[in-house]
Amino acid sequence: MSNIPCILQCGRVCSKATDAITSIEKWDTLKNNTELWSGLDKFGDVHTSIDWDTGPIGHCVHDTCRLTLCNATKLEQANNRQKKRVVDECQAQSSSTSDISSTAATPSFKRLRSSLGLIHDKNKCVWCCKTESAKHPESKLVLISYDHAWAAFKSHTVALEDELMRDRINCLINYAADQPYALEIRYHHKCWFKYVRNYQRMSEDDKLPHMHNVTLREAQTIFFDNIRTVIFDEHELRSLQSLLRDYSSIVSRYGFPTSGVKSSYIKDILTREFKDKIGFHSRPQRN
Ligand SMILES: [Zn+2]
Ligand SMILES: [Zn+2]
Repeated sequence: MSNIPCILQCGRVCSKATDAITSIEKWDTLKNNTELWSGLDKFGDVHTSIDWDTGPIGHCVHDTCRLTLCNATKLEQANNRQKKRVVDECQAQSSSTSDISSTAATPSFKRLRSSLGLIHDKNKCVWCCKTESAKHPESKLVLISYDHAWAAFKSHTVALEDELMRDRINCLINYAADQPYALEIRYHHKCWFKYVRNYQRMSEDDKLPHMHNVTLREAQTIFFDNIRTVIFDEHELRSLQSLLRDYSSIVSRYGFPTSGVKSSYIKDILTREFKDKIGFHSRPQRN
């Protein structure tokens, strides 16, 4: 067994007689495992580039390569690396649309996919990523279709303990911009309870330990929630200048610079968030 390249495409040839693949079981194991690695950073192209009908005789594999391929932990790590790349890529894409002065991108596809994988599927629960099943009535998916639900959804991310889930959902919210219903985001009642309702029931003190790595979008959402309380619930009449002060004090708490923020920016983001539910009156001229 010499000069035959390792079937796992490590770039080296096989030199030992024991590298030869002789049993059909070993061949099938390689076939199944390379399929699990499809599209990942290592072994990602192996499965599709092999004609599996031609083996096992005449093929070889290094023991070390085979052990890496069959290692569940390594597979999981590769999957996590991939998910992280999807999120990074998505954040890079969405940072251009989150610029308040640009017009938001229109979500045009129902399945949001970057080149590396899926971050949104309208047929799956946004949290647990499971589909509906006819056998289990409690698995029925509900569509986010009301402003109050969307506002609650945008608020809960700061308390998500699973960082990957938090990144993915933040990415989705950024992407949805101000047309959330076009993406058709669905959820299970029990997942809504677990994530959103639990967050809403937390006291301010309970929330504090969760306030790490708050994104600008999350910090602005905290400001919007504050506006909901003071203006819509308590019907306070506030000047744009005082809203700017509120904005600066809230957003700077999470490490974002606010010195260059002007009241026109506050007016823009409030209009975008609340649409025609919020009105601005010009200041009466004093003579
Ligand atoms: Zn090898
Ligand atoms: Zn779910």
